Amino acid sequence: MTVYLDHNATTPPLPAVLQAMAQVQAEHWANPSSTHVPGQAARQAMAQARARIAAFLGCKPAELVLGSGATEANHHAVLGALQSRAGEGRRRWLLSAVEHPGLMALAAHLQQQGVPVTRVPVDGTGRLDLAALRAALGPDVALLSLMGANNETGVCMPLAEAVALCDAAGAWLHVDATQLIGKSPFRFAGSGIDLLSASAHKLNGPKGVGTLVVRQGLALPALLHGRQERQRRGGTENLAGIAGFAAACDAHAADLPHELERLARLRDRLEVALLDALPGVHVVGRAAPRVPNTLCLRFAELDADPVLTRLERAGVVASSGAACSAGGTQPSHVLLAMGESPAHARGGIRFSLGRTTTEAHIDTAIAAIVRALAPLLEPTASLESAA
Ligand code: PMP
Repeated sequence: MTVYLDHNATTPPLPAVLQAMAQVQAEHWANPSSTHVPGQAARQAMAQARARIAAFLGCKPAELVLGSGATEANHHAVLGALQSRAGEGRRRWLLSAVEHPGLMALAAHLQQQGVPVTRVPVDGTGRLDLAALRAALGPDVALLSLMGANNETGVCMPLAEAVALCDAAGAWLHVDATQLIGKSPFRFAGSGIDLLSASAHKLNGPKGVGTLVVRQGLALPALLHGRQERQRRGGTENLAGIAGFAAACDAHAADLPHELERLARLRDRLEVALLDALPGVHVVGRAAPRVPNTLCLRFAELDADPVLTRLERAGVVASSGAACSAGGTQPSHVLLAMGESPAHARGGIRFSLGRTTTEAHIDTAIAAIVRALAPLLEPTASLESAA
């Protein structure tokens, strides 16, 4: 049996999600923009799905811009805010130093085009450095992008403090909540956040669908021009995907507090067991509040690659934040930003649990991980002798 502990990468779609998608595809294949009866029925199905997604996120249905996922939503938030606020002389974009690689790549691209960009550092626990944020928030800042929870470490960002600081400085706040939604009782209404990105496939929904929540009254221009999504996102809607997203939201809404407790119990059990059984295990982000499904570990001085290979052979699928390139493993930008050395930043292993993870999976995983890694972690063992 393979134990899948990579739910932060993606999650398996629930049966109710697959069923909702198949049903909508069969019954409502008409274009929701068509004025004939089948088109209007499809439009109605979309409105109903939109209402359920909004209910789960705690926002108004009209605040949702439904699109292809969090990468698109992130681009829409940043490019839209920069365009909208340039006239006020607010041309600078702030983002934390530990954002998702897609946003980090957008930052490098925009900087090359001459956009002023500031990466705000995090502290050793992985939380945003609020003093650095305060110092960076000048009158030229259009937007701060800050993730709700980090995809590699699970560390939660200080959103309330960021809201207060951005408000005082007149900057918009964009939260990439892709890894927070479904892992906390978060609600958009009353949060003070201006723009929020989320993705269905991290919630046992389908890939290729997500949303940008745009606070009512915010003047955000379109990313893709056209009539759909209140002129903010052109293109025929992915109705089956949207129906799947809604079904996933329903499933999470039904038992969220209970599920969060269950995930925390299983994650903590994995963490404690590995710390007990193996020498040289370091928990990354342990000093900060974390979402309950994520455990980021470093095993002594080991690089992630050989560890992941051994784990997969032993039947446990996990992942690393380190990127592989032709030149070898690159250190994780998240761990580097937390002050880890390049060698240690190549060693982060992320175990992430989800709705389909059971107690039996965790017990199997603990035994397999200990068996696979103990030989590498003996005080005298080297990777070569143990491999
Ligand atoms: N932001 C974060 C924090 C993520 O974890 C991910 C998914 N890895 C994304 C954005 C991108 O989401 P999508 O796959 O929906 O484009």
